[in-house]
Amino acid sequence: MRVVALSRLSQTNLLEWYDEHKRDLPWRNTNDPWAILLSEILLQQTQVSRGIVYWQRMIETFPTIESMANSSIDTVLKAWEGAGYYSRARRLHALSQLVMLPSSEGGFDGSLPSSYIALLSLPGIGPYTAAAVSSIAFGQPFACVDGNIKRVMARQQRMMEPSTKDLQSWADEYLVQLRPGDWNQALMELGATVCTPQIPQCHHCPIQSSCEGKDTPTAYPKAKKITVKKVMFWTCVEFNRQGNPIISQRKPDGLFGGLWGPQLHEGEAPDMNSEQTFIGTVEHKLSHRSMTVHVYMATRLSSQVGRHPGDVAMSVLDQKIIELVRQSGHEQTLLSEMDDMDHI
Ligand code: SF4
Repeated sequence: MRVVALSRLSQTNLLEWYDEHKRDLPWRNTNDPWAILLSEILLQQTQVSRGIVYWQRMIETFPTIESMANSSIDTVLKAWEGAGYYSRARRLHALSQLVMLPSSEGGFDGSLPSSYIALLSLPGIGPYTAAAVSSIAFGQPFACVDGNIKRVMARQQRMMEPSTKDLQSWADEYLVQLRPGDWNQALMELGATVCTPQIPQCHHCPIQSSCEGKDTPTAYPKAKKITVKKVMFWTCVEFNRQGNPIISQRKPDGLFGGLWGPQLHEGEAPDMNSEQTFIGTVEHKLSHRSMTVHVYMATRLSSQVGRHPGDVAMSVLDQKIIELVRQSGHEQTLLSEMDDMDHI
């Protein structure tokens, strides 16, 4: 790591700023390790404003780790519906079931462990989450490194591409041992609200005096190039006589694993026959994928068992597809034609 420290970052200034300016987020008003873990898992890939909505839904549905362990994965996915990155929900469910096992069977007797190492051994918990939960919920001295802290560190030290090791050394060096949870949150809060990616507010920054990069903050760290892959899919939605779409549950691994939806086929749609009508196109963006789905609808009602979309967990993409078909009115036309034929 480059040794430059012209002036040391003021831990006191940052903690005082945090005490005065921290956002009133619901998981900051609890000491419950389960509630804190839920917030950390949700916030990994979700903006705070949306994270609050999903956190409230999850904590109401699963107020304890035991309540999640006793629920089916389908119930967990339904509660997670819309939050995206569904592997997080699947791993959280596996974690809850592991924690509930007796220690004689490799579990934790129903209590989330407080140690960093034990947390790290649980499904879905990496170094960041283990450090965040052990410090925030249990007061253990472990330093977090996330994207916000990386940005603050890179600007303070004027580093273009700090390595994971650089970042962890820097975070470890400054960790306030007496308030590790608050310290970690203070650094992340600064990155999220003051030292922001595009328009950092250096004149409001409590650690401006030690910042080497404040004259050209947006130069640090070097922006990562995100490659977004364009992928094309097609689907043909069928309905049954009750007006429910024929959807199936996807395999646990892979895209939208464990969720329900119409069958998606990658690639361009083949030539359709007269029993399939083109309805329209749905665009959907994931972090590294831009999906275009050409949506068709079968013009014959299916004899298969359909599912009411409200009864199962579906991704936002699948909901958009079903909504597009419903809005087209084709499925209503088909249902009334079948009703008319029944009365002939
Ligand atoms: S002075 Fe500016 S660039 Fe430096 S840490 Fe504060 S907000 Fe970020």
